[in-house]
Amino acid sequence: MTESSPGPQPAGTVPDPSRQGQPTSTLTDAGAGIVAAATAHGLVPKTRPRIGVMGGTFDPIHHGHLVAASEVAAWFDLDEVVFVPTGQPWQKSDREVSPAEHRYLMTVIATASNPRFTTSRIDIDRPGPTYTVDTLRDLRTQRGPDVDLYFITGADALDQILSWHDVDEMFTLAHFVGCTRPGVKIELAHLTELPGDRLTIVEVPALAISSTECRARVADGDPIWYLVPDGIVQYIQKAHLYGSP
Ligand code: ATP
Ligand code: MG
Repeated sequence: MTESSPGPQPAGTVPDPSRQGQPTSTLTDAGAGIVAAATAHGLVPKTRPRIGVMGGTFDPIHHGHLVAASEVAAWFDLDEVVFVPTGQPWQKSDREVSPAEHRYLMTVIATASNPRFTTSRIDIDRPGPTYTVDTLRDLRTQRGPDVDLYFITGADALDQILSWHDVDEMFTLAHFVGCTRPGVKIELAHLTELPGDRLTIVEVPALAISSTECRARVADGDPIWYLVPDGIVQYIQKAHLYGSP
């Protein structure tokens, strides 16, 4: 990121109409009020390794996930982004989620070409429902106390954050980065209860892609080329996922 870019913004700040160099189209979707000229957390000199944590169901992983992770990695100078496919996601108990091994393998395939991206089994190997606080606790234990963790989440998930388990502990374990997502308005009022110094909103290039739509397209026989990495198109066909023949 260039020094002239406004950088990621702490939550709860006001718009700066003078900002330059970034698309503004997603601002309407994300809601006015999240973009401001302010201290760019990502430009603070790095003293220890920084590890991004991208949790998701990844059923399937798509380019929206990959672009969000890549963009946050650039803003925050992350050394690595660990993609962590969920075990049995508690928020999605209303629908059938594909077997964890398929979601894990698709995540490995999609992240393999980026030297900074890795995939972890910690959530799928832990019995029971996945809670983000457990993911962060386990990663903290695995990686030790001398790294900074950055939990990356989309605007839709951010809105539910207050309902997550052990939210106070979560914010002690990681810095949270909320990414804009087309069609999702970030409700600043919901974020005021969260610790402002531990949450940053980042505008990422808008990709209106969701796993739900990818699954529906496969089921309807419509193409998902270029919505997901090529290897994922092939994997879905090979494993007959989402009703593909
Ligand atoms: P589903 O439609 O099944 O809920 P999804 O596309 O929302 O799938 P998830 O695995 O639920 O994908 O998302 C993992 C994380 O990635 C969440 O924090 C989500 O908000 C974020 N995310 C997903 N798609 C995008 C996107 N297009 N742009 C920005 N963030 C995204
Ligand atoms: Mg989702």
